[in-house]
Amino acid sequence: MTEHLPDALIVGGGPAGSATAIELARRGYRVTLLDKARFPRTKPCAEYLSPGVVGQLERLGAWSTVQAAGVPALHGFVFTGPAGQVVTCDFATGFGTAVPRYILDMLLLEQARRLEVEVIEDCRAGDLVWKDGRVCGVVAQSAKGSSHMTFHARLIIGADGLRSVVARRLRALHRPEGPPRLGLVSHYEGITGLSAYGEMHVGRDAYCGIAPLGGGLANVAMVVGTEQGRAIAAGSRAFFERKLAEFAGLCERFERATPVGPIWVTGPFGQRATRSAWDGAMLAGDAADFYDPFTGQGIYSALRGGELAATVAGRALEHGDVSAAALGEYDRLRQRAFGGKWKVERLIQFFVRRPPLLGRILHNLMAQPDLANLLVSVTGDIVPAARILTPGFLWRVLK
Ligand SMILES: Cc1cc2nc3c(=O)[nH]c(=O)nc-3n(C[C@H](O)[C@H](O)[C@H](O)COP(=O)(O)OP(=O)(O)OC[C@H]3O[C@@H](n4cnc5c(N)ncnc54)[C@H](O)[C@@H]3O)c2cc1C
Repeated sequence: MTEHLPDALIVGGGPAGSATAIELARRGYRVTLLDKARFPRTKPCAEYLSPGVVGQLERLGAWSTVQAAGVPALHGFVFTGPAGQVVTCDFATGFGTAVPRYILDMLLLEQARRLEVEVIEDCRAGDLVWKDGRVCGVVAQSAKGSSHMTFHARLIIGADGLRSVVARRLRALHRPEGPPRLGLVSHYEGITGLSAYGEMHVGRDAYCGIAPLGGGLANVAMVVGTEQGRAIAAGSRAFFERKLAEFAGLCERFERATPVGPIWVTGPFGQRATRSAWDGAMLAGDAADFYDPFTGQGIYSALRGGELAATVAGRALEHGDVSAAALGEYDRLRQRAFGGKWKVERLIQFFVRRPPLLGRILHNLMAQPDLANLLVSVTGDIVPAARILTPGFLWRVLK
């Protein structure tokens, strides 16, 4: 049994874990971060970064190294509806990009290491350790499965993603409304018609994002209902390519395209934690709540959420009080930062599941580019959600 006593122990070295670690280390706290993977590692994701993410990476001191990897600038999004309607939307300011997660996540973790965060890879967290009703540690196992280690810390932060073991041990997860979904992701070379815009194609029962990664490579990510699970299990590549052909206009663009690497299948997703702070523990990123990939806001909320977690954790550690009451401010800050985005996400999901209504919205957005640009700037994390959560905006979009 190995013992450590840092100020904070973070489970998970994705964007949420690294951002929390960087911000706590900058405040002078001793941080240990565990991840079950060895980096660089892949993560099933459409790999689009909103302009808001670019801003967050700048704040974390990681943008210059990400940019040096030769990433493309994306000026907005092109949406294609089920009946072939096409709406081009421009970000109000700045630009987004697309970066393979094996690069992005490794560079963020390297930034944490530069700030003296102790990073332990190949180390899978299992049970939580409790004392007097308070979380005070994590039991973990090395990737080889040989030795169990117990890590103690003043505060435990679960940033271990979609299937968070920390959230499960806290009995925090519940499933909000909306059907559970599966994601399929693959890189392709040779897709024709790529541009400096991200793409979102909506079909009858699926949607598909295409993000140009530079150098002719693109990420193709599809989301389908869990009822397709059996067909996927029978052959994920065949399913993927069959489904791609159902999207208006995509078939011809993939005629000369070749897959690079495997298909990653992930999910089911669509769950949230009931709250994000307990006595001695917090949740960040997907462990706390999951954004549907349609709006591409997960990485922004992981980075911004990590920043908020570190703000509250830093104050609690300084005062020597990591009780749920002292950490409760985190839920309030998250509500303030993400409450509007959660509403927008629910509205978009509602419309995406109703093709006739979506068709009318796309028609209205085509005729009113100012609304289309505003919408994509909200989902791009550069304009507050309140700007579109108004009767006037909704009327103009839905009329
Ligand atoms: C199909 C799909 C497409 C998406 N596309 C986009 C997109 O284009 N843009 C966008 O912004 N968002 C997108 N998202 C969402 C985005 O991927 C997530 O919101 C983001 O990765 C959350 O970061 P995180 O740090 O919370 O979790 P993760 O990135 O999942 O990181 C969690 C880390 O925890 C580690 N871990 C897990 N369990 C344990 C354990 N027991 N012990 C130790 N370590 C553990 C994992 O190895 C991993 O490194 C997409 C999601 C899906 C499913």
